[in-house]
Amino acid sequence: PDILEVSDVRKIYQASNGPVEALRGVNLTIRKGEFVCLLGASGCGKSTLLRIVAGFEKVTEGSVTMYGFSVDKPGPDRGMVFQDYALFPWLTVRDNIGFGPKHRRLATKLVSELTDKFMAMVGLTAFADRYPHQLSGGMKQRVAIARVLSNDTDVLLMDEPFGALDALTRSKLQEELVEIWRTTGLTVIFVTHSVEEAVMLADRVIVMSAGPGRIDCEIEVDLPRP
Ligand code: ADP
Ligand code: ADP
Repeated sequence: PDILEVSDVRKIYQASNGPVEALRGVNLTIRKGEFVCLLGASGCGKSTLLRIVAGFEKVTEGSVTMYGFSVDKPGPDRGMVFQDYALFPWLTVRDNIGFGPKHRRLATKLVSELTDKFMAMVGLTAFADRYPHQLSGGMKQRVAIARVLSNDTDVLLMDEPFGALDALTRSKLQEELVEIWRTTGLTVIFVTHSVEEAVMLADRVIVMSAGPGRIDCEIEVDLPRP
């Protein structure tokens, strides 16, 4: 079944030096459980499209729906992982991961169960009491992934999430992400400008043309996974 529907989306930013058209006529259907990579050169509008799906940006024309309902603001059903982690620096690993459940006012016991479950899923149980500045880049990104998942999220949105990591850490995180995707049934939308990364991770690679971006083609990938 379809989970996300992007229809005839156009996006124009009003920048100080005039309007910038970032997306033109984007149509896209994402099915539940897919691992989709958005691939394209810098500036083609990948981040814009992802931020629109996240509800951080509004469309200029067209619509985005999730389960048939219009997406026009952020929600716990869609969570974003950024290249620069964007963790809460004043919170420990445990409290970063437990932030969503706690603020949904779930029972204390349930908050700690969810926190423990996702902390274990990313292998950080032993680091529960550390603060972000005491962690490596790879560990920070694991916290960011667990922080999204603890919200009961259906769609994981990732904007070049491994771009700041060294090659070895990146390939470890790629493997771990595929394993999480496989075991949870999450839907993943992953932005990258690396053909290699897209082909290694995705079921389906969506190639965007240079800006104002639109969908050029879609490639089904059927390769053995790491
Ligand atoms: P990337 O290519 O990694 O997606 P960019 O360097 O294009 O990132 O953009 C980084 C940040 O700057 C983003 O938050 C984006 O929204 C913002 N940005 C990019 N271009 C402009 C612009 N022309 N005016 C204002 N903000 C911009
Ligand atoms: P990508 O992620 O593929 O690098 P972006 O979505 O970041 O592309 O940017 C697409 C286009 O929109 C670029 O021309 C960029 O400069 C512009 N842009 C992005 N964010 C903003 C913004 N906040 N204000 C103005 N222009 C922006």
